[in-house]
Amino acid sequence: MNSTHRHLDARSPLVLEVHELGRQAGRMKEIQRIVPAPADLAIDMIGVPEGSDVELDLRLESVVEGVLVTGTASVSLVGECARCLERLQDTGSYTIQELYFYPGREADDDASWVQNDQIDLDPALRDAVVLELPFTPLCREDCAGLCPLCGADLNQLPDHSHSDPIDPRWQQLADVAVSDDQ
Ligand SMILES: [Zn+2]
Ligand SMILES: [Zn+2]
Repeated sequence: MNSTHRHLDARSPLVLEVHELGRQAGRMKEIQRIVPAPADLAIDMIGVPEGSDVELDLRLESVVEGVLVTGTASVSLVGECARCLERLQDTGSYTIQELYFYPGREADDDASWVQNDQIDLDPALRDAVVLELPFTPLCREDCAGLCPLCGADLNQLPDHSHSDPIDPRWQQLADVAVSDDQ
């Protein structure tokens, strides 16, 4: 079994019917639909919560080789700020563009295919969203992060400083430094 002949799950909300296009180049179909997000639409620190709304705004167009899908997927994002570790929420809109070849056409190994007059949007959605997610998401552009000495959230304590070290080990080192100077 290779991906070309992978069985499509017709119950999946990301499997779309294309039989109306009838393999006639130039025919077009528009789909506006909200579907639940599949699992693992995420990277380490940010992603789309499973089951949350994915708003699809797609244009399916019959071309000579197959069905060309273009459009956008709008999603909710939940993650953790890479600097201050606070939970963050955001939205994103991602461009989908994928050609699904008709059976019998010549195509690369990793090509997508029309199967039984259906297409599976899942891999294209993954590529569109996951490849665009930031490796270091921030709660805001100028997030001040955490104090490297004590972990205090510097967004909430802009005047935070360590003129008075809180850790006694730091105090001992400071005392040593002072006595060395004498
Ligand atoms: Zn932050
Ligand atoms: Zn501190």
